[in-house]
Amino acid sequence: MSCLFLQGHSHAEPAVRASLPKPGIVLTFDDSINIELWVKQIPLFEKYGAKVTFFIEKPDQLNAAQTKGLQQLKKAGHEIGCHGYRHIKALDAIENQGGDHYLKIEIDPAVAKLESLGFPPASFAYPMSNNNQNSDALIRKYFHHARTGTRPGHGKTLAESDEFFTPINTTAKKFCLPARSLDRSTEERLQKEIFPALERIKTRDEVIVFYDHAIISETSRKNHIRPEILELILVKVKEMDLAFYRMDDLP
Ligand SMILES: [Zn+2]
Repeated sequence: MSCLFLQGHSHAEPAVRASLPKPGIVLTFDDSINIELWVKQIPLFEKYGAKVTFFIEKPDQLNAAQTKGLQQLKKAGHEIGCHGYRHIKALDAIENQGGDHYLKIEIDPAVAKLESLGFPPASFAYPMSNNNQNSDALIRKYFHHARTGTRPGHGKTLAESDEFFTPINTTAKKFCLPARSLDRSTEERLQKEIFPALERIKTRDEVIVFYDHAIISETSRKNHIRPEILELILVKVKEMDLAFYRMDDLP
C-alpha cells in the first residue's frame, strides 16, 4: 500500500493550516455502524482535549440518530471524514470499470451527500486500505489527505518502520498517510508496540496516524478498542506533551 508524495496540494478549499507546533498523533475511527458508540465516548476525548477523525461510509443510509450523532461529534470538535459511498475497494473498481467510473460511483456521491448533511469532507479513508499511487492521484482533487492502513515491515517493530512516521514539517508533501491499526489492543501491546512509537515521534518531531473502529468494552466484537485501553493512550499522549491532531489539521 504505497502512498503518493506530492509537492504541495491542489485541494479546492483554500484552507489555511498552520504548521504543526509539536509532534503528535492522529486518531481515526471508521465505519458508520459505530457512530453511536463514538458519541458515548465524547466525554472521554474531552477529558484529555483529544480531537479525532471519524470516517463515514454510505452517508445516504444514515438514520436520524446517526446524523444527530455526527452533529454531536462535530460540535465536540471532531472531524467527520469520507469513507466512500459503498465502501468498495478502490483498486478493484478502478481496474474493472476505470478511474472516472470509480469517482462517479464512489467518491462524487459520498462527498455530495456528506456536504448536504453539513459535513463537507476534507479527508478520505480507503475502505479495506485498498489503494495505490493511481487511486491517490485520482482522489487528491477532492481531499486534503487520505489515509490507508498497513503493517510494520517483516521483522520490524512499529517504531522501526519509517513509513508510519512523517516529520511535522513535511505532512503537506504526503497526500496519503499509512496508519497502524489499534484494533484489539491490550495493555501489553501498548507497552511493547504503541508507546515506543510515541517515544519515536517525541524524539524526532514526527506525526503518526492510527485507526480503529468501534469503541466498546465487549470483546466479542472483532474490530474494536476498549475504552480503558483508549484512555491509556490518551493519558500517555498528555503525559508526554504530544499533540492530538485531526487529519484535517495536517498541512
Ligand atoms: Zn471501513
